[in-house]
Amino acid sequence: MIDFELIEKVEKKLQPEFEKLEKTSLYNQNKVLNAFKKNKIALRHFYGSTGYGYGDEGRDALNSLFASVFNTEDAICSPNIVSGTHALAVCLYGILKPGDTFLSITGEPYDTLTDIIGGQDVGSLKDYGIKFENIPLVDGKFDLKEIYERLKNNTYKMVYLQRSRGYDWRNALSLCEIESVVNFLRSDCEFSDCIMVDNCYGEFIDVREPTEAGADIVAGSMIKNPGGGIAPTGGYVAGLKKYVQQVRNRLIAPAIAGEVGSYYNGYQYFYQGLFIAPHIVKEALKGAMLFSSVLSELGYETLPHRFERPNDIITSIKFGDKDKLVGFIQTVQSNSPIDSFVTVEPWEMPGYEDRVVMAAGCFVQGASIELSADAPIRPPYIAYLQGGLTYEHCKIVLRNMNL
Ligand SMILES: *Cc1c(COP(=O)(O)O)cnc(C)c1O
Repeated sequence: MIDFELIEKVEKKLQPEFEKLEKTSLYNQNKVLNAFKKNKIALRHFYGSTGYGYGDEGRDALNSLFASVFNTEDAICSPNIVSGTHALAVCLYGILKPGDTFLSITGEPYDTLTDIIGGQDVGSLKDYGIKFENIPLVDGKFDLKEIYERLKNNTYKMVYLQRSRGYDWRNALSLCEIESVVNFLRSDCEFSDCIMVDNCYGEFIDVREPTEAGADIVAGSMIKNPGGGIAPTGGYVAGLKKYVQQVRNRLIAPAIAGEVGSYYNGYQYFYQGLFIAPHIVKEALKGAMLFSSVLSELGYETLPHRFERPNDIITSIKFGDKDKLVGFIQTVQSNSPIDSFVTVEPWEMPGYEDRVVMAAGCFVQGASIELSADAPIRPPYIAYLQGGLTYEHCKIVLRNMNL
């Protein structure tokens, strides 16, 4: 157990930061509400459909609603996108054509994209003649000189950014950082093609989204921030019409994309999840700040640092010891509402290189907007803690840590 007095002392010090989070949440709640009003969302949009799904108004209105929230020409939010990885993959497969090269300026993309980009004989982008290059971040910052040189001497179809930290020891990019690099790409480098952002874990962190800071297209998961812990599955893509249309054609098929696609269960939870998302993200951020600040007090190295405002909903904690790491993850699991009786162990998770240990005692399987934690089993044994539907739950789990 962690001393409750310590937790409450740290909590007091965090009050000014918590007030800022309240302001962001208020702003985003209003933004989402206005999108609901603008799109005249009604009860009939919740009904499911069957078969081809012709005339499925719930599906179409949900797409428009997302376009409004992200301030873009077009969007897709759909249970037919099975995860964040799938959302990112359909963007890449849809926009990039044989002979194209795309450039990541945030280093190697998220682990599950490795085979999609470079796998051998699996239908990867590489198999289709699409090339990939990357420029690593330097101490978590863009390597502007290298980006400039590379863009001057080569032709790229897409520049790709990953907002959140993935499994790197770095903070997520702030919206200001995204905006300034987009401006740099557009003006200094005269890059006019597609700028894409992996927006996973970044939604509603700030008062704007990357699409409002010059990015052409973003993608993410509905069982992370924008689903508010209520959406049962799904992914989204939002951006310029010409790109979203290509993505839609890839997700469904040309000629029928945009007209078909049914979902028997109905869409209520997607709408309701989006509506509550700004509030839930705030709860998770407060929880994240409490964890990083208290664990820092106890001598652990964390990112973000103590009292530092996060740019995604994740806290990275360096344990330097395998047993301590696994113990931490197990305590998160044993204090989850679902499957609290389970002892989690490292396993070979599909799409990940190292064995991974994961606590996900969630209402929606694997939903990492719910309080969850995971860690690849490799030195220096870093745990990635994220989510929390209620701040109170975060606080209780922290108190119950054996540290
Ligand atoms: C979670 C995540 C993904 C992949 O999302 P899944 O829904 O797990 O497939 C991609 N990129 C980043 C940065 C993520 O955090």
